[in-house]
Amino acid sequence: MGQILVLDQNMINMIAAGEVIERPASVVKELMENSIDSGATKIKVSIEDGGRKLISITDNGCGMDGEDLASAFEPHTTSKIKTSSDLQGISTLGFRGEALASIASVSQVTCTSRTKIQTGANRIEIDCGNKSSVSPASADYGTTIQVRDIFYKLPARRKFLRTANTEMGHIAEQFTRIALANGSLDLTLIHNGRELYRLSDKDHLHQRIAELSPIPSSGISENLIEAESNEKSLHILALMGKPSISRTSKKFQYVFLNGRFIRDKFISHAIKEAYRGLLEPNRFPVVFLFIRMPYEEYDVNVHPTKSEVRFYNANLVHSQILATLREKLLGTDLQTHAVLPTATGSREMQGINVPGNRSEAISEAMAEFFKKHRPVQTQEHFSYKPTQQIVSLRPCSRQIPERHTGAATVSAFTQTSQPVPEILSKQRKFMQIHDSFIVVQTDEGFVIIDQHALHERIIYENLCKRILHRAPDGGKNKLESQKLLIPQSFDVSPSDADLLNTNAELLEKLGIEVVPFGPRAMAIQAFPTLLTKADPLDFVQDLIDLLGRKDINPDGEKLLDEVLNMAACKAAIKAGQRLTDSEIEQLLRDKVNAESASRCPHGRPTTIKFSISDLEKQFKRT
Ligand code: ADP
Ligand code: MG
Repeated sequence: MGQILVLDQNMINMIAAGEVIERPASVVKELMENSIDSGATKIKVSIEDGGRKLISITDNGCGMDGEDLASAFEPHTTSKIKTSSDLQGISTLGFRGEALASIASVSQVTCTSRTKIQTGANRIEIDCGNKSSVSPASADYGTTIQVRDIFYKLPARRKFLRTANTEMGHIAEQFTRIALANGSLDLTLIHNGRELYRLSDKDHLHQRIAELSPIPSSGISENLIEAESNEKSLHILALMGKPSISRTSKKFQYVFLNGRFIRDKFISHAIKEAYRGLLEPNRFPVVFLFIRMPYEEYDVNVHPTKSEVRFYNANLVHSQILATLREKLLGTDLQTHAVLPTATGSREMQGINVPGNRSEAISEAMAEFFKKHRPVQTQEHFSYKPTQQIVSLRPCSRQIPERHTGAATVSAFTQTSQPVPEILSKQRKFMQIHDSFIVVQTDEGFVIIDQHALHERIIYENLCKRILHRAPDGGKNKLESQKLLIPQSFDVSPSDADLLNTNAELLEKLGIEVVPFGPRAMAIQAFPTLLTKADPLDFVQDLIDLLGRKDINPDGEKLLDEVLNMAACKAAIKAGQRLTDSEIEQLLRDKVNAESASRCPHGRPTTIKFSISDLEKQFKRT
């Protein structure tokens, strides 16, 4: 006798529920989306015991009459699409007609609903797929769905539910996504009788972000930069976190497409690229991205929870997002502002010990910062250089001649015709401290510059300009190199030699000429002029290490970027290196011309701003 049976409908629903209903938060998502599709302007979500006991959602949407109420919980029933052509431009959040049937197959559901034209409401109850008949009830117009004891007949799934707090965390996340995507809705979230969020339809987007943001509310909205573009029927609104509020995961990247939260690898990549060089490795920006585009230009029917979509022109989406974000970031002052102790902090200064407070954390952070940036060479003496008054600086008409003392000189892209940088144009004062930092007076206060980090950024940008951009004559982009007086030889293993040979093109781009020099040796014959301050042998050795790294795709841009980073680091002025006044002036000039001088290529800040008003507050002068 055959072993294969046809499953009954209830079993089919339970199995299907596994796809859409993973945990209480999935129920909240599906039901809130239904409320939004029903045209509701007000939705109240009430949860008990992290959703394990009760999920109750009430909306003021269009409601359902008795007939619709009876069919809404059947599998594959929907009012949102009728023919296959409707699948081509789905404007509603739901369309698959499976959520209610799935939810009702794994829990006890009571649904009460009334349309605007009805005088009375109707109610239906479903217990793990067993439906009652529709009966009259009394309720305002709109719909209330109560979901009790999720998975109570499925112990294997119930077992996987986490603590009430964890489940509530997932619910709050779903609520947050929907609340951000639908700024004009009045939304409430209650847990065990306590109101967690009450969001008014009058909220400004920034305000809503600040209210919902799980990021400690250290002024998130002041740290968001707004960018907008509208081209080729693609509208983009981005609220981008400054690098100073970056995170250790992508969790704080919210992308919404026509009101739907989505995850998309092209978009993630565009965001990452937009922040290239502005963040330290392993840090991720906080971004809220709202995309509007015609429904026909993407397919939402690729994932059961519809959190992934397929763009028909993914390249356009990628390039426009990247351009919008990048342009704005590069045009914004991203300098790190020093955070000085606040009013409570000043109590500490007066000798009142406030353990574990914010100012303590800040002083620790500052101490840590200075510890990390301690000069690499030991200091003979702290030598105070008199502050230099620059009375009037003319545009630099010559490159500062490079010294051959082993110390890197500052010169990058100074051009004869460039205007006098603002930072130096008036009577400005600067001084180098600890042979590592430069303190510069500005109109608003003063800035402290990390000389190595800034010079590294300047050289990095210069290298990028020369290597990545097309040469004006259309020729190959490569760094200018010069022959070494005496070729420098070094021992190589066969695998190192192989690495150098397979990357011959990269070496050529860099202007490095390496030739065989005996059976197990090679010699460097030419080296890029821009990197004269780096030691060729040391550079090539590190280059071999980099080329051999398994995590870097040898053909990708990442390799070139890593190489340029390394080159910039090696050729830049070091901490602990004394600079002449004219070198400092040159560095400050080059800073003005750099694209994003506020961060070194690894994303660390190059400059920290201190405002005079903050100082005045600290010294109680205001
Ligand atoms: P889908 O949303 O994919 O259509 P669902 O199973 O989530 O499928 O819902 C089935 C149908 O029930 C919907 O198409 C809609 O007509 C109706 N419905 C569900 N929730 C509500 C609600 N809150 N208000 C009014 N109608 C609703
Ligand atoms: Mg739905």
